[in-house]
Amino acid sequence: MKKVLAFDLDGTLAPSKSAVPDRIAELLGELLKTFHVCVISGGKFEQFDNQLLSNLKTGQDELSKLHIMPTCGTRYYLYAAPSKSWDKVYAEDFSAVQKAQITKTLQSVIHALGLDKVKVYGEQIEDRGSQISWSALGQDIVDVLGEEGVKQKEAWDPDNSKKLKIRDMVAPLLPEFEVRAGGTTTIDITKKGIDKAYGMQKLIEQLDLSKEDVLFFGDKLQEGGNDYPVKAMGIDSLEVSDWRDTALALEAILHVV
Ligand SMILES: [Mg+2]
Repeated sequence: MKKVLAFDLDGTLAPSKSAVPDRIAELLGELLKTFHVCVISGGKFEQFDNQLLSNLKTGQDELSKLHIMPTCGTRYYLYAAPSKSWDKVYAEDFSAVQKAQITKTLQSVIHALGLDKVKVYGEQIEDRGSQISWSALGQDIVDVLGEEGVKQKEAWDPDNSKKLKIRDMVAPLLPEFEVRAGGTTTIDITKKGIDKAYGMQKLIEQLDLSKEDVLFFGDKLQEGGNDYPVKAMGIDSLEVSDWRDTALALEAILHVV
């Protein structure tokens, strides 16, 4: 039996940048009684807090089995029961020079493609410490527009062609970095070799397990997607199209357990 169930966040446990639905929150609470649960995403810790942690309905004992990996596993947090806080285990941050180089390159490609001419909500380029992320419609679109923002994001690039085009232009200009099509409207850039597979490897070491013990759920498991590195490293992976798919699979798993 698998010991760890690992999940992407946006598109897998929740609609993009939105809170996890109650059904998912309840299922995660149930899973934590039996499994270690890891959530890994391109988002920063504050996003995990808003979307996931503040909506969970679990006890302190269960929380100790929850592993939080923001920014593609470049950061890792565990729950400390005595202080009731989420403590950082590690972070792989960029230097100021690297941040400036990445930002400048992203801006020039986006400008060349004319993608800076749309209405944006908040910053398009966000510094997440260990990751620089470009969001087509701005980081705050869902905060500002709510459901309408989710719709606009989902309509922006449904076949991933825009994101893959940006990635294909940016990657050769930043050969020393990892460039990936991230969430619904996002390009994520991290240090080379640091992706969700890196996070999964760290998790396996932390728990003293092997990759055979892990089952991973993601909505971007195709080559070039931000979940693909996990599948490519040989972890059993299940592709879902949204959180409802995930809920159905989890209900089946809990029924068998
Ligand atoms: Mg996703």
